[in-house]
Amino acid sequence: MEIENEVRRLYDLPSEELYALSKSACRKYYGNTVFLRGLLEFSNYCNCACKYCGISTYNKNIPRYRLTPNDIIYSVKKYFSKGYRTFVIQGGEDPAFSDSDFCNIISEIKNITGSEGALTLSLGRKSYKSYKLYKEAGADRYLLRFETSDPIIFKQIKNFTDLEDRINALYELQSLGYETGTGFLIGLPGETEETIIQNLILTIKLNPHMIGIGPFIPHPETPLRNIPQGNIEIVKRATAILRILLPKTNIPATTASFSINSDARSELLQIGANVLMPNIGPSQNKDKYELYPGKSCSKYSNDYQLMLNAVKAAGKTIDNRKGNSIAFENNYGGNS
Ligand code: SAH
Repeated sequence: MEIENEVRRLYDLPSEELYALSKSACRKYYGNTVFLRGLLEFSNYCNCACKYCGISTYNKNIPRYRLTPNDIIYSVKKYFSKGYRTFVIQGGEDPAFSDSDFCNIISEIKNITGSEGALTLSLGRKSYKSYKLYKEAGADRYLLRFETSDPIIFKQIKNFTDLEDRINALYELQSLGYETGTGFLIGLPGETEETIIQNLILTIKLNPHMIGIGPFIPHPETPLRNIPQGNIEIVKRATAILRILLPKTNIPATTASFSINSDARSELLQIGANVLMPNIGPSQNKDKYELYPGKSCSKYSNDYQLMLNAVKAAGKTIDNRKGNSIAFENNYGGNS
């Protein structure tokens, strides 16, 4: 009840007051630093029929690609030598990659980075057994957004799968010792203000180490093509509220936010986000990982430079360490 009251109180605060609080919460734990995560989108093949997603089975008009383990290792080596210390392996739910394929990739990456680097997976809902194998192979972190706290909307947009199962996956990941990230989309069909409040409450209850919030952006080859995109002001306010209530988490200024509003990246960094995720995959595939149209890494060839500009505009600096979440450090110990 206390969490709920606090969320509702912050939700009603004028933006200026809200952002003053979120800025100081971020400064207290993360100073003026921004961590970089090198994002490798390894495959746009996907078995899932999520109605919001441009690489789902609904999209029959997109060329599909998958990176080979060698492509992945090549990019990790290249960017490790440039100073990157966190790598995120994200993709569609591609049946061509077996658990042992992933475990080989994970252990090769960890051989390159040693304990200086962290490896994040974003592979969707897998079994507990798979999560355990990946952890034993050396994976450190896992991103799995619950997407929406409304079980009815969830079922509608995620092909009759259950929100409860997605939440269970998050508990499984936490119990295995992963630094765990979750989050949600803003602007899904059927959503009300109350849904957003409940999204915030659920995020807090899950006690994650990382949080990603993005606006929903309609993709023309999906059933949600006519739904308007999410409201960036709500994304900013939700980010600020979570920074205040979960101040020790890592929170990215998400790519989707910047893709619909070119000021959003620096604004989000100013009001409490502390992470950016530059795309480090081979350039010929960037356009094909089209979760939504107009992704900034496809739209701007100088997206990385734009990130640096946003960091500067927000009065922050890049921190090259692997940057564990302080929320995670407090739970499990270890070095950042
Ligand atoms: N298959 C993995 C990775 C999905 S892509 C999984 O399901 O977890 C990562 C995130 O992109 C998703 O969790 C979703 O929140 C976001 N995303 C997908 N489609 C989107 C869209 N149309 N607009 C904005 N964000 C989207």
